[in-house]
Amino acid sequence: MGAYSYWDYGPSYYCRHHREAIQEWGLTTRFFLSTYQGATGPTAFLLGVIFDGLVLAERAWAAPVMLRAHLGHLRIGRLARMHASQLASALAAARCGARYPRRVARFIKASSAVVLDDYAGRPENIWLDALTTGEVIQRFERLPGVSQKKARMAVKLLVLGFMYGRYPNLERWCDLDMAVDRHTARVFLRTGLVPYAPRFTPSASRLIADVTYAARRLSPDFPARLDDPAFEIGRDYCSPQDPDCQACPLGRPGVCRRRIHMTRATSVLEA
Ligand code: SF4
Repeated sequence: MGAYSYWDYGPSYYCRHHREAIQEWGLTTRFFLSTYQGATGPTAFLLGVIFDGLVLAERAWAAPVMLRAHLGHLRIGRLARMHASQLASALAAARCGARYPRRVARFIKASSAVVLDDYAGRPENIWLDALTTGEVIQRFERLPGVSQKKARMAVKLLVLGFMYGRYPNLERWCDLDMAVDRHTARVFLRTGLVPYAPRFTPSASRLIADVTYAARRLSPDFPARLDDPAFEIGRDYCSPQDPDCQACPLGRPGVCRRRIHMTRATSVLEA
């Protein structure tokens, strides 16, 4: 086990305490419910997944609706056949907020082509004819412009019914891992849930694997449950330079180890 010895010999009370504190905070949050309301169908949902991270989080799910209003459609076949520069111009004209419209256009075009070829042009076939969450995550990860983080987030939204009314009845929620980004990783590092040595800077894949593993240990039946609360704590309280430990939901005694110096380790995820 090597690097994971902390989990094998560390006090289980510590783990339980974290999980309860993070989940408790998750129950109070309404931010995500309000931002996910933009996607109104399977193609809009798929495009929202691609937009996520490439535009402001609050606009990612509204951007497909704005694109549809500009183009007059969101047909997979037509998106796949559009020239990338034409699609990039449409993204700019629709004011979708894409920081790199050419890049986003390439992702949309290429993903639409995959959906056309592999899923009969129907994005909902990605998740409706699968059996397990792990299978759908792998399918999303094969789409251009969809990272591990976005694939996990997408499947979590689908199984929880946050998006697109007809959600799938997928088995093995235990395979639904946390979507690791710099905010969630920072919280896991600073709390001590991923106990690296102070000067250790992991590779991106190592950090993602270790945070994923820690989340599985904390919440084995549904690791992605920790996703939104950890993201919000990382973004709203545990900032890289000036963490607000007094106001933080994990700031009470005995919960967080306050390893503030671990900021550097998350830099591998910021590229
Ligand atoms: S208590 Fe401080 S260091 Fe710990 S997660 Fe909260 S803000 Fe970050």
